[in-house]
Amino acid sequence: MKEILIGRDAETNKLRITVDGKSAAFGAADSVPRSVSQQHVKLTIGNDGSLLLTNLNVDNDTFVNHRGIEAKYITHGDRITLGGENYKLTWDILDPFIPKMADISGLQQVWDEYQEKRLQMQIKERRFNTLRSATGLLTMAAMVLGFSIGRGGAVFFLYIAAAVISLVFFVIAFMQSSRIPREQDQLLQDTKRCYKCPACGRLLNLQDFEMLRQSSGCPHCKVQWKK
Ligand SMILES: [Zn+2]
Repeated sequence: MKEILIGRDAETNKLRITVDGKSAAFGAADSVPRSVSQQHVKLTIGNDGSLLLTNLNVDNDTFVNHRGIEAKYITHGDRITLGGENYKLTWDILDPFIPKMADISGLQQVWDEYQEKRLQMQIKERRFNTLRSATGLLTMAAMVLGFSIGRGGAVFFLYIAAAVISLVFFVIAFMQSSRIPREQDQLLQDTKRCYKCPACGRLLNLQDFEMLRQSSGCPHCKVQWKK
């Protein structure tokens, strides 16, 4: 949260803006009419980027889009005038005092999908490895049967089946040994491409969304994350 005090400088009749106890004057001398008081309005910038304009005294006249207000959430571009003579408070004066903010809530979905897909890939890989170990069981079953009932046709068939299945799994495993790392790499690259600052479009470090949200803002363009 940040507060910007706006009023008239009593000596020069310029616009005076005060932030954190530091004041700066804007415009030409006598450009601000006396109907604008020395402490006229306050602009409160929320951590979510919201802009709340508050009249600081009941005697002050403040208008947003031609309507008198006491306190009102405003949006960039609204027409703000102060005092009976409708002194226009322009956004080019206010803008440098308003921190730039970006909404990164969309990146949560990108991160969640990445985690989910990565998990699915791991599950697939483990299931396959489990199935593959079943060929060993089949071979063992054939051996056990061979010892107990002799080498009949059924046992011979089991050996053949075990050999064929083992071969199939071997071929699949051989193909997967390059496919799975490629898929994982592709997923990583695709996610990295989507993990970017909504304000400047530059890539952010692929990190846990919660960690990103807790950081102050974009390391490239310095916008703050809306919170
Ligand atoms: Zn940025």
